[in-house]
Amino acid sequence: MTRLRLVGAKEASMRAVDVIAKKRDGQSLSREEIAFFVQGFASGEIPDYQTAAWAMAVVLRGMDEVETTTLTLTMARSGQVLDLSSVGQTVADKHSSGGVGDKTTLVVAPWVASCGVPVGKLSGRGLGFGGGTIDKLEAVPGYRVDLSASEFLAQLREIHLVVSGQSRDLAPADGKLYALRDVTATVDSVPLIASSIMSKKIAAGANVIVLDVKTGRGALMKTEADAMALAELMVKIGRGSGRRVAAVVGDMSQPLGLAIGNSLEVIEAMETLKGRGPRDLVEHCLVVSGQMLKLSGAVQDDSEARSRLQDTLRSGKALAKFAEWIGAQGGDTRILDDYGILPTARLVQEVKADRSGFIAGIDALEMGMASVLLGGGREMKGGAIDYAVGLVLRYKVGDPVRAGETLCTIHANDAAKLERAHAAVAGAISIQDAPGKPPPLIHQIIS
Ligand code: URA
Repeated sequence: MTRLRLVGAKEASMRAVDVIAKKRDGQSLSREEIAFFVQGFASGEIPDYQTAAWAMAVVLRGMDEVETTTLTLTMARSGQVLDLSSVGQTVADKHSSGGVGDKTTLVVAPWVASCGVPVGKLSGRGLGFGGGTIDKLEAVPGYRVDLSASEFLAQLREIHLVVSGQSRDLAPADGKLYALRDVTATVDSVPLIASSIMSKKIAAGANVIVLDVKTGRGALMKTEADAMALAELMVKIGRGSGRRVAAVVGDMSQPLGLAIGNSLEVIEAMETLKGRGPRDLVEHCLVVSGQMLKLSGAVQDDSEARSRLQDTLRSGKALAKFAEWIGAQGGDTRILDDYGILPTARLVQEVKADRSGFIAGIDALEMGMASVLLGGGREMKGGAIDYAVGLVLRYKVGDPVRAGETLCTIHANDAAKLERAHAAVAGAISIQDAPGKPPPLIHQIIS
């Protein structure tokens, strides 16, 4: 039976099994009990089997706002909490709950920084159908994703823009818990997801945090109600810990933009910064960037945010910031003029429309799975990724299409995988006679 040697007389007499039983029976845990548990599993004194049982009890019984906030802050303080005050300005961060074709960070980070607001961001790798920002950046030859805390801070001070991988020193309790949740069917819980995301955001130190929460088939939160519940809870936790926080609940029933796959998404991000991005991606990035500018105090309202962002896009400042950032982190900046420097697939095949009509649906989950099938995502933690492969759509939901036209181009490096992906993509895109109504791009904003 685990008895812990922890600070405080109360914790010293606690037992992990009693805390698990209390949550199993639907009771609220005290601050001391949560701290006891988090410190226990972070230090290894509480074994994985008890932590997994506790996580399952939380999934089934939930946590109230006070418990979730305590869990978040305890996990945030389980490691280093970055002090960004030496930057001398408000630093902004954003976080996406993940989705298919979601390359928002690659566009938003340089775009906001080009408007004079420093952006410091720690990103993660992808698992399953949603690719992570770090995987996309690793497609760029030379790009370093493993900056130390001092390198992270130095680059943030120097060029006001840095995006690195999650360091082991930040919120290590979440790192351990998340790895366990991933293999014990305990990811799907609003309080556990909210505390996991917000503990890392708080540890990363930014004063302004914009949460980009996705909803739909290709997102963690399948319904708008769940996405709103997650967004509202994360906003409350962030504000409660003294940060300025907003949330954008965006659609993920169809992929964001047209490209899915690491190199292909880097290209689409550069095209967007060159003023040639797909309309939905541009609009989504304008909304998220606008919230970051507003919360940072750089602009007064949405219309000033839009005009500032459109100016830096037109003048080429946003693209120049992208190049400066990629170069500062060791990436090959020749990719801006020569996309062929990025990993490129050997096999390219088109999926054609078998009838005329209007695009009725592009199933984001199925498209994400097709990209994983090609090797563009990982099914297991630590698995290898093929940066070159992926899919490029031609249309969005609601667009007219004629029989025989290309719906999607598949980029592959393996003929058998290409064949399976072709069938999956063909099944994921549906066509109907009537125009129908495209889903809203943004469902709600909490600002
Ligand atoms: N992303 C995280 O960082 N944590 C979760 O629990 C889910 C998604």
